[in-house]
Amino acid sequence: MDLTVKPGDDFYTYASGAWIRNNPVPAKETRWGSFNLLREFNINAVKEILNEAAANTSAKPGSVEKRVGDFYAAAMDSAAIEKLGYTPIKADLKRVKKVKDVKGLLNEVAYLRTTGAASPMFGFYVGQDRKDVNTMIPQFSQGGTTLPDRDYYLKDDARSQKIQEAYKTYITTLFTLIGTPEATAQKNAETIFNLEKKLAAAQMSRVEMRDPYKTYNKLSVADFSKSTPNVDWKSLMAKMKVTGEDTVLVNNPKFFTELNGLLTSVPTADWNTYLQWNVLKSSAPYLSSKFVDANFAYSQALSGQKVQTPRWQRMSQLTDGTIGELLGQLYVQKHFKPEAKERMNELISNLIKAYEIRINNLDWMSATTKEKALAKLHAFTPKVGYPDKWKNYDGLEINRKTFFQNVRNAGQWGYNDMVSQLGKPVDRSKWGMTPPTVNAYYSPVMNEIVFPAGILQFPFFDPNADDAVNYGGIGAVIGHEISHGFDDSGSQYDKDGTLRNWWTEEDRARFEEKAKALQEQYDAYTVLDTVHVNGKLTLGENIGDLGGLSAAYEAFKMTKQGQSNEMIDGFTPDQRFFLSWAQVWRGNILPEAAAQQIVTDPHSPGQYRTIGAPVNMDAWYEAFNVKPGDKLYKAPEDRIRLW
Ligand SMILES: [Zn+2]
Repeated sequence: MDLTVKPGDDFYTYASGAWIRNNPVPAKETRWGSFNLLREFNINAVKEILNEAAANTSAKPGSVEKRVGDFYAAAMDSAAIEKLGYTPIKADLKRVKKVKDVKGLLNEVAYLRTTGAASPMFGFYVGQDRKDVNTMIPQFSQGGTTLPDRDYYLKDDARSQKIQEAYKTYITTLFTLIGTPEATAQKNAETIFNLEKKLAAAQMSRVEMRDPYKTYNKLSVADFSKSTPNVDWKSLMAKMKVTGEDTVLVNNPKFFTELNGLLTSVPTADWNTYLQWNVLKSSAPYLSSKFVDANFAYSQALSGQKVQTPRWQRMSQLTDGTIGELLGQLYVQKHFKPEAKERMNELISNLIKAYEIRINNLDWMSATTKEKALAKLHAFTPKVGYPDKWKNYDGLEINRKTFFQNVRNAGQWGYNDMVSQLGKPVDRSKWGMTPPTVNAYYSPVMNEIVFPAGILQFPFFDPNADDAVNYGGIGAVIGHEISHGFDDSGSQYDKDGTLRNWWTEEDRARFEEKAKALQEQYDAYTVLDTVHVNGKLTLGENIGDLGGLSAAYEAFKMTKQGQSNEMIDGFTPDQRFFLSWAQVWRGNILPEAAAQQIVTDPHSPGQYRTIGAPVNMDAWYEAFNVKPGDKLYKAPEDRIRLW
């Protein structure tokens, strides 16, 4: 902490000042805070599991330990990987180079996607139809670009230009590494950048993408094809292993009509270069060190990271990202205690109780809408720790000697697994995060809140800590995920997860007015020089924090400690509650990473998450005796009360 600072002036520094001064971002990272410390702890736990599994030569063939160990051992065999250079992608490059016309181009797009090699031109996945949530449907989305956001292509300020140059250098380097003469490689970089810029210009912004109605366009396959005469979707989908589906969802139809035009207005030779690039960039992290280093140099320009993350860490993350539910089985055996699940279920049920009280007490919502909100609240499904039914990756071939092929096999397996869901009942046991993940999520179409084992540890959760610490930490995280069901986007889904309005017009108007005030509060937060928080992009997360922390406080006040005044280490229970919240969000971030976060991340920076919710809560003012004249002071009538 930094007790020389007044909490009402700068609560962030008051709660975490000394820690922030003493914990700069390590050279291999782009940010450093509570989340990263726990992630570091977890990745080391994962490394230990992987090393053990890889060293266990007596593990039974086909067992979880054998498959996980083989994957990691192959990934760590840098001598073998070095020797191969770019041999693993030579066949792809050779085949792609033969593409001569639009038909060949589209065939190749389908082939690369189904083999897990690359995802060029557009996005595609299979998911629940959000207006008919018991049905899985093919969904097409805007895509085809490489830089983290359309803005990076379309803006020309100094920061964007620097990143564009780094991106072109990256393209040039990878092409020269496969033997392309320097001048041609440079020309390729211009070609690819200009083509991707056209795709970027056809994309919607991230703020527009938050609108679940605008991005819901159900089309028959025939009508989709009519809107894009250069693409026969029926035949393309068949090549993508999707047959027997006559309707699709398209998030941005305009993107696809633009793409349709580009298919013929851009020379096929340029598209050919673009496809080669897609093979190259998707494979670079799994090839020899020259490719990996070029990839790092590019990401450095984006994030500011000083030195490359060590190989063991990258490969541990890759194992988690690729066969996470195999690794997860070993992880929870060692690092998840059944008592934690019991305690979590109790916390969740207390948070739901608190939320119910808060909904009943809302002064801005009618009884009709309250009834619907409560029905939704009671329909939430919580998931804690790890899946009841593990994904076993049956049929996925993992070989201790062939790292690259393992990654490809996993990509292909994942693709097949995804399309195999079509025509089947929705599998509600599925998880969207792996067990070691230090995070949590809400799914509107499932109406579920999910907490992987990874986050159920200090500083979020500690069975031995007092309630103030747990309610200000994991309690607020639980409240945050519940609140996503009631944020600007999630609140448009009903208790069954269906995108369907359940609000009266007046209630919705009042909700939006309050949300707008919250948006303006965050818009005013500056991050560096001219960069400020995007209140619209971060609105859902900020509603999550405000609703979540308020509900967590309400639930905390029902505990014995919450009702007492007993001090611990000189702090009252309420002070400890808010300090726990603040210390979860403390951290340092590199300026480059901060700039990227503002453009791409719907979460506000930790510094502003620390204060954004408390300044709207009377309890915080009372706990720290915050008075008019203090820098963070908001008059009672200006404090925003949403949930
Ligand atoms: Zn969130």
